[in-house]
Amino acid sequence: MWTAVLNVAPASQQACRTRAAAAFSPRPRRAPPPPPPLPHPPRPPTAAELQHVGVAACVGGCGFIATWHQRACCHACEAGGIRGGAGDTIRHGPHCERLPLDALDLLLRPPPPRLPAHSPSLPPHSLSLLQLAALAARGLGAVRTAGVWRYDSARPPMALWLRVLSPPPELSEAAKPRRGDTIPLRVDALPDGVLEAPQLALASYRDTPARPALVFREMSDGPELPHNFVSSDAVGKLTPPPAEAAAAGVSAAELLFWRLVSTDTCEVTSMAIALCLRHMHASGILPLHDERGVPIVAYGLQSADRVLPFVRHISLPNAYVQLDPIGEDRLRLHMQDDCFPTWPKGGGTRHRLLWLQAADGREIVADFTGPQYGIEDRLAATMTPFWSAPVLRSAEGSRYIDPRLGLQLRGSAAAFCGAQLPAGVFDDRSHMSMTLRARDSVLAVLRSSGCLSTYSEHDYCMPTEFIDSML
Ligand SMILES: [Zn+2]
Ligand SMILES: [Zn+2]
Repeated sequence: MWTAVLNVAPASQQACRTRAAAAFSPRPRRAPPPPPPLPHPPRPPTAAELQHVGVAACVGGCGFIATWHQRACCHACEAGGIRGGAGDTIRHGPHCERLPLDALDLLLRPPPPRLPAHSPSLPPHSLSLLQLAALAARGLGAVRTAGVWRYDSARPPMALWLRVLSPPPELSEAAKPRRGDTIPLRVDALPDGVLEAPQLALASYRDTPARPALVFREMSDGPELPHNFVSSDAVGKLTPPPAEAAAAGVSAAELLFWRLVSTDTCEVTSMAIALCLRHMHASGILPLHDERGVPIVAYGLQSADRVLPFVRHISLPNAYVQLDPIGEDRLRLHMQDDCFPTWPKGGGTRHRLLWLQAADGREIVADFTGPQYGIEDRLAATMTPFWSAPVLRSAEGSRYIDPRLGLQLRGSAAAFCGAQLPAGVFDDRSHMSMTLRARDSVLAVLRSSGCLSTYSEHDYCMPTEFIDSML
């Protein structure tokens, strides 16, 4: 599936690829190299560096980052800490993220200068993009190994702590699936936008807004896994998976799991991988090559707009939904205001991709959160969502990807490999803490897989002979 996406390049590019592949044929494995010298000695980030990326240290001086609040790590710390028993001070509140400033350590220091263009040398133990994606998937969410779904790391950011319930019966009656394509209730099946919640209009940046599909949920006690996500009759008719996924044993319930889990995670996952690459780069090496074997020398984020219609899955807390009949066959759905989910501006039309550039200038975009948009590619190693595609150039010189992917690239890529991260990358505080946790989760998997090893406070690349076998 992945190769199918990549094989859309015009013939001229294919020829170019063949030449490049010859120039960059893999080198034989060698003994692991000694750790590279530390490019920059560890030091705490300066106030100016923090401000540049949109991060503030807690005013309480506790060493944590202000995540959910403007000035402090939590209200308790800002107020001087909570008093505990026997004169102890329990400094932080229950919802404090406790994210230390150290989490930004390597990110804020300049990585070594960019590798020279057309460098013919790969780092001795370089990963392919697919290897990196399959390893990263283990740090991001559920993976399927030997036919069994499980979570590989302790706190993966793409775990779903919810169960799907049957829709209220009167709503399922009023909103019968049309054209048999709904999971499980399409809001536009209700006449005249009767749903009261204004957010459900999903105003779009473009002419092709998302069509919301409602999923009724309750919280679960622990993270759910795709194979036991819904019982067979819980949500009525589910869209069958595409032929390729069905052939790989993927059920409709698993598909719904991924459509829910990938909602709103594009920014967090793409940025987490870009920050992983910067972390490796800052420790002196960028061990990644494209599918031709050409070293990746630049990385970052690429924004894109959805230009094909897509269905956005919205989970609603079942207990807070009220339905009032307003005429013959019409219903009004009310939600308690404070439990209504907030939608991203544009209804999710904007998408975020990982951007990579090889030493010969060829660009690639990659997506770890595909399936809610009708892109059903998966990593064969983990069955988790993933696709990548080459960036092409029109005759006028504009950048685009295969139109069948339904995305138009927006603006230029934001490089994460420069001396500084792009200004304000952590302006969205709610994304920041999740992104840093996702990055750390992926780095932990890379270390445990043996492709990164730590000395002092830095990582360096280790032999990867056995990685193929674990993929
Ligand atoms: Zn604090
Ligand atoms: Zn705190």
